[in-house]
Amino acid sequence: MMIKVENLRKTYQMGNVEVRALDGVSLSVAHGEYVAIIGQSGSGKSTLMHILGLLDVPDAGTFEIDGTDVTKFSENQLAAFRNRIMGFVFQQFNLLKRTSALENVGLPLIYARNGKKSDIATKMLKLVGLGERMSHHTNELSGGQQQRVAIARALVNSPSLIFADEPTGNLDSKSAKEIMQVLSELHASGLTIILVTHDAEVANHAQRIIELRDGKIIADEPNPNAPPIPKAPKVETVEDGAGGFSLQSIREGIILVKQSIRSLLANKVRTALSALGIMIGVAAVIATVAVGNGAKAAVQDQMSRLGSNLLMVYPQRRSRGGVSQAQGSTSRLSLSDVSAIREEVDHVVFASPTIDGNVQLKYGNKNWSSRVEGVEPDYEYMRSYEPQIGRFITDEEVNARARVVVLGLTPVRELFGTENPLGQKIKIDRQTFTVVGVLPEKGSSGFRDYDDTGFVPVSTAMRRLFGKDYIDRIEIQIDEAENMERAQADILALLAQRHRAGSSANPFEIRNLAEIQDAVSETSNVMSLLLSSIASIALVVGGIGIMNIMLVSVTERTREIGLRKALGARGKDILLQFLIEALIISFFGGCLGIAVGAGVGYLAERFAGMTVLFTKDSIYMAFGFSAIIGVLFGIWPARKAAQLNPIEALRYE
Ligand code: ADP
Ligand code: MG
Repeated sequence: MMIKVENLRKTYQMGNVEVRALDGVSLSVAHGEYVAIIGQSGSGKSTLMHILGLLDVPDAGTFEIDGTDVTKFSENQLAAFRNRIMGFVFQQFNLLKRTSALENVGLPLIYARNGKKSDIATKMLKLVGLGERMSHHTNELSGGQQQRVAIARALVNSPSLIFADEPTGNLDSKSAKEIMQVLSELHASGLTIILVTHDAEVANHAQRIIELRDGKIIADEPNPNAPPIPKAPKVETVEDGAGGFSLQSIREGIILVKQSIRSLLANKVRTALSALGIMIGVAAVIATVAVGNGAKAAVQDQMSRLGSNLLMVYPQRRSRGGVSQAQGSTSRLSLSDVSAIREEVDHVVFASPTIDGNVQLKYGNKNWSSRVEGVEPDYEYMRSYEPQIGRFITDEEVNARARVVVLGLTPVRELFGTENPLGQKIKIDRQTFTVVGVLPEKGSSGFRDYDDTGFVPVSTAMRRLFGKDYIDRIEIQIDEAENMERAQADILALLAQRHRAGSSANPFEIRNLAEIQDAVSETSNVMSLLLSSIASIALVVGGIGIMNIMLVSVTERTREIGLRKALGARGKDILLQFLIEALIISFFGGCLGIAVGAGVGYLAERFAGMTVLFTKDSIYMAFGFSAIIGVLFGIWPARKAAQLNPIEALRYE
């Protein structure tokens, strides 16, 4: 005995009214039988078929298939039985639109995962007489042809039981006759067929007729008018594929991805819009990370140009009552402080006094406002100022207060253009200086142009240009980083002693360039963190966009989900399908975003003069992000789809 049910009950609540769709139905169907269930509309036929077809569960009663109690089956066991043992033919055909006949027929094969070759789908289509129409989309076929596709699909996993619910309900009489002929032939080949119809003429094709009224069986008899059993067609059975497990899963994966791409392509505008959100997010991440990295690299680059292990000694600004006082004579640095530091403090490699001020440069009839710095020869090595042409200032020139200048690139360009400046005389604040060298290029940062400067001997700057007998600061290079702290303390102690500072606060302060450097890179780290968090918000918003679209898609495709479940898809398969769709959208958006982000970065570099640094990491990160977003925001709609009850989903309008 194939099917055995006893006392099946199913009640629907319609407002206050209880509808007993099935009211104690008991019946058995043996292998190879052809049974028609008839009755008026609303008598419970479809409800019975759905329960027998494991698409729905009864409220009460027992149900065995080949001796197995199926009432306690899990979701996955039910899906497997629907897929392998049963085939369904519905009144509305329930085919996937915009999909070829062949792919529709192959659908149950995806969920069977038994390694069956897809050429079985071709064979089944030929069997139902559609060999010529395999690559046609289902919406290009007539009703009768569509129903044949549905029958071929029901047969593809070689089931032993075919359910047909009003299979001719939507067909003209000629097509109806042909479909009934196909069913009779299938019966002849050994299949068990359970046919549901309200039409007595259709039911007459069966060997046995069961009549329902108000959820009860009122008649169950052999059909005396049954036509003779026709000659059986050759239904080729195809064995389950043995090996090639991984190959099989790869093939299934490809089919899944292909399906997802097709359903995404079916709604191109919608897909593009939801990918747009991710694209903007990823582009923002890529561009901001690149700009942030570029800024950091630029700062580090500038810092390294300043030289390493540098200390700067300044007179302390003493303030009283918040008002900065003029620097008193005790806190002024002198040239002799520099020599004292050179001679008495250990680990000092170079030291140079520094004094600077704004000046007017003049050559011929050209004027340029710039800065000059008064320094000693040590300065060249401390700060890597080896001139690209000519030379730096010398000790003799410092001693002689010589009027010589080493010019930066900017004044050279402004005053000389393409002329060679070496040996030329220029006026600095109306005094004549000889150009002895041109400084190497140091570049610019934001507002400051490091090349817009000139170096003169410190003595010349003090006496001849600025009229001061003191210097602004002392720059010192220490031999090793680990000696910085020692040297710093020694220098302060020496200066305090030389300036007879009492127990009061030291009149000088020392700044360590390494510390400044750390502070600056800390700032740029905070900046890039800030920028990337803003970019991540854009990504999350993009993800919500995907979720939104996927939710709409799940609702819109409820019937498709129901159909897939009826054909044996497990919750997991549906979940995977929607996840793959979400992933494809975010992957697609991610790729576009990388391109757009790179483009924005390029424009920022080209036209806004920003330093932009793309790293492989930021590209991996963007990819990772979009994948995570896809999964994260796809999982909820996908789960919603996976949990749909097949028959409710199929009935969804
Ligand atoms: P048939 O297929 O014989 O026309 P059905 O099995 O579809 O009958 O329905 C039997 C009875 O159950 C009908 O009265 C119908 O209105 C009711 N019914 C069927 N499905 C539902 C449902 N999902 N919710 C409420 N009532 C239902
Ligand atoms: Mg019905």
